[in-house]
Amino acid sequence: PAAPGTTVGPAFRLQDTTYLVEETEVSDTVGELSKLEQARRQAVFELQGLYAKTNADIGADEAAIFDAHLAFLEDPGLFSEIESWISDVRRNAAYAVSTVLDAHSAFLAADDNPVLQARAVDLQDIKQRLVRILNGTTNPIIQPSVPSVILAHDLLPSQTMLLDRDMVVAFCTVLGGATSHVAILAHGMGLPAVVGLGQGLLQVSDGTVLAVDGNNGIVHITPSAGQIAEFVVRQALEQEHQTRNLGQAKLPAQTSDGVRVALLANISTQADALEAMRYGAEGVGLLRTELFFMGRENAPNEDQQLAAYRAIADAMERRPITIRTLDIGGDKPVSYLVQPSESNPALGMRGVRLAIAQPDLLRAQLRAIWRIGPGYPVSVMFPMITTLDELLWLRNLSADVYTELVTAREPILDMLRIGIMVEVPSAAILAHHFAPLVDFFSIGTNDLTQYTLAVDRTNAAVSYLSDALHPAVINLIAQTTAAAHAHGKSVGVCGELAGDPNATSLLLGLGVSSLSMTPASIPTIKATLAGLDSTTAIAQAQQAIQQPTSAAVRALLARESLR
Ligand code: PEP
Ligand code: MG
Repeated sequence: PAAPGTTVGPAFRLQDTTYLVEETEVSDTVGELSKLEQARRQAVFELQGLYAKTNADIGADEAAIFDAHLAFLEDPGLFSEIESWISDVRRNAAYAVSTVLDAHSAFLAADDNPVLQARAVDLQDIKQRLVRILNGTTNPIIQPSVPSVILAHDLLPSQTMLLDRDMVVAFCTVLGGATSHVAILAHGMGLPAVVGLGQGLLQVSDGTVLAVDGNNGIVHITPSAGQIAEFVVRQALEQEHQTRNLGQAKLPAQTSDGVRVALLANISTQADALEAMRYGAEGVGLLRTELFFMGRENAPNEDQQLAAYRAIADAMERRPITIRTLDIGGDKPVSYLVQPSESNPALGMRGVRLAIAQPDLLRAQLRAIWRIGPGYPVSVMFPMITTLDELLWLRNLSADVYTELVTAREPILDMLRIGIMVEVPSAAILAHHFAPLVDFFSIGTNDLTQYTLAVDRTNAAVSYLSDALHPAVINLIAQTTAAAHAHGKSVGVCGELAGDPNATSLLLGLGVSSLSMTPASIPTIKATLAGLDSTTAIAQAQQAIQQPTSAAVRALLARESLR
């Protein structure tokens, strides 16, 4: 299960579209050859990622498909043919790729040998990938024409965001874990999602009726009339519950003894901000800025970023917003930031590591943030902080940007609060050293769990181990809140745990003062909070961190909530 909810709908397999190839005559053949080489490198990078993921999630046999694609990309014969269409025939790279690969694949497709016929499909796949890259990375997708259950191998955040929300009732994917970005986005869209269903999923044909239970991670293929009736009733009850909760959106979030906890929203776009307002968010606790950078040909410039951030700040009607700087890399790749392939991307050039290595991107982002303008309550936070040096470097850059803008007499924010995400265990363990240097901590439980328990958050095979309520994780949360409070700093949680009603009492008891979640979860957490007493929560949290296993923590939390 990746996002809760129950629904029934027809299956729609998400296909990549066929990219159009235009034929043009080029004069700068050297430039065109270098475009081809860049596209080839990008394709290698993408395929290595796919290979590693398929190998880990499904198995070596399935992964071998991508190994074969990689071998084609390394084939000098094939590429010298493509190059000669560029240098000798003076055609554009996309046309050259398409002509050569079409010819080879037609030849293979005509063979009687089924193994060679299959290779023709591989060549078409590679052609599509190269042409897509050469055309720019926008990924136009065919939309379903009726509201459907989307079936896909895996969904990139940018792909998910391109889908027409009105035509999607649920997501089901072959790959993915409970905290993958499909899960997070589905949750945010208020749609059920079931992930890690395995290859068989894609054998379900379009239009087949599916009953999706996102609460328990079950998908019935061609359900009986009785099952459909049951699902429809459950869906209606869920909607009724949601409507009742929405009615309380404007009421403050507090415990039965009057302790306030700020309930904030995790968002990526202006549309999300409007949704956050509907659900009664008091502000934005995490603005993930990656989506502005994904699914496009180059980075948005400073003015484009400024427009996007200000639109969000306006949509939030000047409630506080916390903007997270670019967290690219790992499970959030961006095609134009061609990075050398990494065998362990989650442990590689991610978040501030990439930002520090390529400071121009971050400088433009910080300038855009400062320029949102006077009167806006804005904070910034940095992802994937591992060492104090990184934080000091980033604070210096921010101070530089400030001086630059003041000197240029630009209208800027009155102040910018600076925080860090605590999502690498080293930051939690050394929280007492970080605390004096920040205005606040925001705990990213998705990554903190991944790195504490050594569980790849995108790997379905090990998702059973991924539990943010594991005592090792909650002890790091406790350590972070204790260090922050000793220095008079506040702590929020913005990972998925913040929206889990089973964890509300624990987080309150550990001294977390804000919870940031997908907007749709706010009403449930508000209702949960209203039923809690802060003194009991504190006592219970102290017991929880003594437990040896996740099961013991969960049992303790369940027992207390029955009282
Ligand atoms: C987290 O890691 O908990 C988090 C909120 O960041 P993201 O899910 O974007 O990595
Ligand atoms: Mg994170």
